[in-house]
Amino acid sequence: MNELAEVAVDAKHPAIKGEYYYIVPEQLKEKIQVGSRVRVPFNNKTIDGVVLRFLKKEDANCDFCLKEISAVDERFVLPPFMLELAGCLAKYYAANIIDFLKLMLPPDVGLPKESLYSIAEAWKVESFRSEIQKEVFRVIRDAGSITSEDISRILDLPHSKVKGALSSLMKKGFVKREFRVKIENPSFREDSPKSAFPRLTFEQAKALNEIKRNMEEEKKPVLLFGITGSGKTEVYIKAIENVLAKGKKALVLVPEISLTPQMTERFHERFPGKVAVLHSRLSDGERFREWYRVYKGDADITIGARSAVFAPIRDLGLIIVDEEHESSYKQMEFPFYDARQVVRFRAEIQGAAVVYGSATPSVESFYKAIKGEFALLKLTRRVTGKPLPPVEIVDMREELKSGNKHIFSSKLCSEMDSALSRGEQVILFLNRRGHSTFVLCRDCGYVLKCPHCDISLTYHISDKKGKCHYCGFQVDAPDICPKCDSRNIRYFGAGTEKVEQEIKSRYPGVKVIRVDADSTSRKGALEKMLWEFKLGKAQVMVGTQSIAKGLDFPRVSLVGIVAADVTLNLPDFRAGERTFQLISQVAGRAGRGDIPGKVIVQTYCPESLAIKAACQYKFKDFYKEELFNRKKFEYPPFYYLMNLTFTGTDLAKVEAAAFKVKKILEEKVPQTKILGPIPAPRFKVKDNFRYNILLKSSKQESLIKAGDILKNLKGFDRKVYLSWDMDPQDL
Ligand code: ADP
Ligand code: ZN
Ligand code: ZN
Repeated sequence: MNELAEVAVDAKHPAIKGEYYYIVPEQLKEKIQVGSRVRVPFNNKTIDGVVLRFLKKEDANCDFCLKEISAVDERFVLPPFMLELAGCLAKYYAANIIDFLKLMLPPDVGLPKESLYSIAEAWKVESFRSEIQKEVFRVIRDAGSITSEDISRILDLPHSKVKGALSSLMKKGFVKREFRVKIENPSFREDSPKSAFPRLTFEQAKALNEIKRNMEEEKKPVLLFGITGSGKTEVYIKAIENVLAKGKKALVLVPEISLTPQMTERFHERFPGKVAVLHSRLSDGERFREWYRVYKGDADITIGARSAVFAPIRDLGLIIVDEEHESSYKQMEFPFYDARQVVRFRAEIQGAAVVYGSATPSVESFYKAIKGEFALLKLTRRVTGKPLPPVEIVDMREELKSGNKHIFSSKLCSEMDSALSRGEQVILFLNRRGHSTFVLCRDCGYVLKCPHCDISLTYHISDKKGKCHYCGFQVDAPDICPKCDSRNIRYFGAGTEKVEQEIKSRYPGVKVIRVDADSTSRKGALEKMLWEFKLGKAQVMVGTQSIAKGLDFPRVSLVGIVAADVTLNLPDFRAGERTFQLISQVAGRAGRGDIPGKVIVQTYCPESLAIKAACQYKFKDFYKEELFNRKKFEYPPFYYLMNLTFTGTDLAKVEAAAFKVKKILEEKVPQTKILGPIPAPRFKVKDNFRYNILLKSSKQESLIKAGDILKNLKGFDRKVYLSWDMDPQDL
């Protein structure tokens, strides 16, 4: 008996968000199911919720008066495996189940106008007072179900008259209205295969066979470690074909759809009419339709960025995570999920295979592979047979000695001169996080670091101190280099704008496109810039790391990394990994066209292994040393992290709350280091003060427990907002 329903409600305030019982009203009994989206009364408002289960009145043991569910969205029901996934994630991230269910729902575009009319189940033969009603009734009876537009066409009556008749018929209960989603598929293409599909190379075929075998036997996630241009996508395509042949479906996750249009194009071409694409640039209506096609099982392959991991795919056989090392898989705001983690839960629940692909796997995934938790497959050669371009390191300390104080070395300048004079294009990279500065000796490359955390100290100009934003350690920034006694020690940080100016003054008349967070904040601005550069409307592009992944410009012959040190000295334990990835990705993508490519990396620290290993394509050396350091300084994959943020307008309260929480955690959470509280790197944002606490533990269960404690904190200052980020990225 579905008398009551437990509903996860989407209340605004986290303290009252949760699951509540509601009465299932008689007239909605047939329509409400487990997984239905419903509207329910809550604190004098009507809000959204999702039905989790049914129960009998006597099982509810609550004596107060329950309210009724007000309405139900009849278009869809979230399938049971999605409810299970939401439950798992809510536990792991210490959030409410509704926080994840919300991510699984399609955009709320209201009910579609398109409706079907059919005869009500319990109808009586009646005499109709109006002739039109009689005719309309007859047409519906004959058709079974039909739209109002069609009725008006058949009877040759004005639509308004038909509508009027329909509403009287409905009032009397003779006919009922159903909603149907009109499917116009924005990503549907008729194109037939253009080119002949390539035959797999020996390496590709071997990898494919291993994937197939693995899917039958060990059923382990696969890490496909293949250099750029080695044909990973082709392997994905073949693995997907194999899964589709078994009547199952596939999900393909990519870091950012707008930067990888070639990838989606290729899938459309290879699987015409079978692909659904979910991305942020779709309008709500378009997104709803794509979502609905997936829900109905009309799309065999779903492609999308991070949030597509929540697409309602039944019979899921395979999940591909392309460029698995990208931090954009992590949602940096509440509920702070990592799509790669979601993939693991989802694959488990639905029995799907997983392939993670990358030319520069994350240290975590690589470690899982060497431990045997993932099956490791390698592609070591480019399909074209073209070698990877040479990468040259320029030692900026030497540059300074020879009197050049500019941001560009003489080597980079002469290469730019000749590339531009040949009419070729140049790309210069700078790190995305230009705002964090560090203290560097320009003579010897010495960088001020935290002795406890092994990250660079962030220079604070106000009190001339270097501060660790993990543990709070601080020292006065030295005037003299502790290593070489040079006075040439100062804080460092070059922005994209400075690089742009420098080029403009060196090469008047040369057009420069600057791609960074400021210049691309408008929707579509990034695509436009990349397109203009491709068309040759500018000769030089200056950009942050974000443009590295989509790089596919055949006329680019020179790529420069202006200051590898900026990435290398990010105040982040992944700084080395990011540097290694940036250089490898950039190098792998240069020289794709007919013009041979060249890469120049400028640095004050050429002895850094992250830089050396990337430039010489010695991947193993890098992972070996990086894993050693991660273990030594207690970072993932050996330790788990959780970052707490306290936010509020009253600084004293924020601080007090942070110390109070630290105390609670110290008492209740075992085997966990609690670093901080310390002011956050962005201490004041929009009049809000922010404090951080970093938790570190070798036992992830401890952190899950900490999350649970934080979620259930009572008597917490309501003016201070607390969030917790499990497995933080870009920390
Ligand atoms: P990756 O994803 O590893 O960077 P891609 O799958 O994009 O590599 O392949 C690079 C290029 O090589 C693409 O243009 C692709 O069409 C082509 N390609 C892939 N496999 C083959 C093959 N076996 N024979 C010929 N060309 C191939
Ligand atoms: Zn020095
Ligand atoms: Zn520290």
